[in-house]
Amino acid sequence: MVQGNSGEVRDVIVIGGGPAGATVAALLAEYGHDVLLLEREILPRHHVGESLIPAANSVLARLGLIDELRQSSFPRKYSVQFVGDSGRPSAPFYFDDLDPLGLGYTWQVVRGDFDRMLVGRAEQLGADVRTGTRVHCIDFSKEGITSVSAKASGELSELNCRVLIDASGQTCFLANRMGLRVSDPDLKNGTVWTWYRGAERDPGRDEGATIIYSAADRKSWFWSIPLPDDTVSIGCTGAMDHMFGSGLSAKNVLSRELAKCPALSDRLKDATQSMPVRSTRDFSYRSKRAAGDGWVLVGDASGFIDPVYSSGVFLALKSAEFAADAIHAGLKRDDLSARQLGSWKAEYDKGVEHFRRLVYAFYDPDFSFGDFLQQYPEYRTDLTNLLIGNVFSPNAGRMFEVLPINKPRHV
Ligand SMILES: Cc1cc2nc3c(=O)[nH]c(=O)nc-3n(C[C@H](O)[C@H](O)[C@H](O)COP(=O)(O)OP(=O)(O)OC[C@H]3O[C@@H](n4cnc5c(N)ncnc54)[C@H](O)[C@@H]3O)c2cc1C
Repeated sequence: MVQGNSGEVRDVIVIGGGPAGATVAALLAEYGHDVLLLEREILPRHHVGESLIPAANSVLARLGLIDELRQSSFPRKYSVQFVGDSGRPSAPFYFDDLDPLGLGYTWQVVRGDFDRMLVGRAEQLGADVRTGTRVHCIDFSKEGITSVSAKASGELSELNCRVLIDASGQTCFLANRMGLRVSDPDLKNGTVWTWYRGAERDPGRDEGATIIYSAADRKSWFWSIPLPDDTVSIGCTGAMDHMFGSGLSAKNVLSRELAKCPALSDRLKDATQSMPVRSTRDFSYRSKRAAGDGWVLVGDASGFIDPVYSSGVFLALKSAEFAADAIHAGLKRDDLSARQLGSWKAEYDKGVEHFRRLVYAFYDPDFSFGDFLQQYPEYRTDLTNLLIGNVFSPNAGRMFEVLPINKPRHV
């Protein structure tokens, strides 16, 4: 049964209620636009991607969420630390006063709760949010109006809007349908992850740190992200062939890789696994375009690099912020052209490239950040700034003047 199509045209329809969709919906509703957000899941739902970087704080402040985050049980993350293949840890990279709000920390979040907090904020600011509603198809054939078919509880609705925002994450709803999604041929990775309770943690302000461990054979690396309730998220990433080529289950792949990382497995020896092991693969891609007449892509729907620096949620928030300002200006001037809606993309891409180059360096077997900082200690602050996510400032990426970037070879 088809419902709706009363002829009503919303200013904006957003596909997806992750960090990107919730943020763009919240900011456009705050500007006073008529916003409808459609999310296929009932919230909260599990999602990978639990570690924020401090640059996210500025968008979270604009959303008015800092006090709520401060009062939450999410652990505070003051630093990130790397443990090499020999088990030797780097000095932690403390954020100190380099984050945009001067807090010196950000948060490790349970994504179900964090994403629901963002969607709740969008609702408070006036967005119409419908969860359990999956977008099925899009019709761009009417001049200036996009029609969206969505299904909830088995019933199909047709809805119209002036601007369609795709924030559907790795589903890449529009990019896939338009043939815009291009995989990164140099990053063909896969990941397995789970949660444990009762793992050993560092004391004091290091308790909430993200720790990145290399396996002894350098064929994979692990994240360790502390969460509330004595839980820690553990994930392992490596080349898809290496991870999944043998046909082992995700659980067995994780056990096989953990056996090569005593620095981490020692910390887990008294811990209990508290979630099934999940897996994902081939998640590095970009869209050839981020906007067209009447549509925009934000967050993972427009591209994703790699999990290693925890940049994904920040880029989802930031692209949503950029897009919201461009869409607002376009709605005010009645200019919903690709040029106006994508006017932020060149500046955004420049920042994203800094992360991409840092990711390529991480996977380059001839490169080590330890050796780099020994040779060029004056770049430690620049590197810390990139790890914080300060990639949109004019001086960001100065260290790339001296850092040779080879494309990853072990993946
Ligand atoms: C292995 C791995 C580890 C990661 N670790 C980190 C990390 O530690 N820190 C970090 O910052 N980032 C991390 N990321 C990245 C992070 O998960 C994403 O960048 C982030 O979730 C992107 O937010 P988003 O809003 O664009 O998409 P999502 O959070 O994926 O939200 C998209 C939403 O759209 C909905 N949706 C999809 N299709 C439809 C449809 N047809 N109709 C309606 N709704 C739909 C989905 O249900 C979903 O809720 C990681 C990614 C991977 C792959």
